[in-house]
Amino acid sequence: MGKKENDKLCIMIIPHTAKVKKFSIPSWLPKVVSIAIGLIILFLSLFISNLHNSYESLKEKYNIKAAQVNALKAENDKKNFQIFNLKSENDKLREKSAEIDYKLMEIDKLQRELEKIAGIQSPSRGKLLTKTQGLQDTESTDELRILIDTLDLKKKELQDFIVDIEERFEYLETIPDLWPTHGRLTSKFGMRQNPLGRGRQFHYGIDIANSSGTNIVASAKGIVIFSGYKRGYGRTVILDHENGYKTLYAHNSKVLVSVGDRVEKGQLIAKMGSTGRSTGSHLHFEIHENDKPIDPLTILK
Ligand SMILES: [Zn+2]
Repeated sequence: MGKKENDKLCIMIIPHTAKVKKFSIPSWLPKVVSIAIGLIILFLSLFISNLHNSYESLKEKYNIKAAQVNALKAENDKKNFQIFNLKSENDKLREKSAEIDYKLMEIDKLQRELEKIAGIQSPSRGKLLTKTQGLQDTESTDELRILIDTLDLKKKELQDFIVDIEERFEYLETIPDLWPTHGRLTSKFGMRQNPLGRGRQFHYGIDIANSSGTNIVASAKGIVIFSGYKRGYGRTVILDHENGYKTLYAHNSKVLVSVGDRVEKGQLIAKMGSTGRSTGSHLHFEIHENDKPIDPLTILK
């Protein structure tokens, strides 16, 4: 019995009032229980430590992620700033483009004025070569490309126009439309009473009277084909403008150019006088077109 009795433990609960309660449990149970508790504690502490490690690793991961998020945020801010800058660049570009467009229109206006002055048309023939309007929605790069193309076209057009104008001015230089002197217009082109005799005769030029020695200038650019004394005309200069026009300057007191000289429009060529068949100091001025005298007043400006 003894050994069997030893294998059991007796637990008695003695309340104040009721009967004593008595349990008997196997004697190994406390040991097993304490080992189990020990194991549970060990397990729990391992679990906690594991949990702690997991937490630490999660925290670390979170920190890494947070750092990445911050980096992304910074990147985003940078991008936003760049976008803002690009937008303002774009705005500036649009502003510039509008400015250039305005300048192009101004150039066009000037061209039209020059056309009127020179009496010619520029190569664009009145077409406006400004940037197409209503391109506000296009990409600024497209707009820039269009603008560059337009500017390129305009440059070529202006180069051609300048050549045209130069040629035109070169031609205008040879048109005898400059008054050869200043003074009083005393006689016009056409039939008139002979001032030195009887009857009527044809006057092949105009007379401009002023004091002796008044400057006489070339009415247009040309070459001197006569310079000297001519019967009736006195001291005379004749210019060939090499475009069908010739001009004659008569009754001078002095001639200042020689045959073969090239003269510019407005260049001093003689001094007014009264040589030849003349009643007083004046210039007798003739314009010949294809060797026929024409009324100078139809050309002089
Ligand atoms: Zn005359």
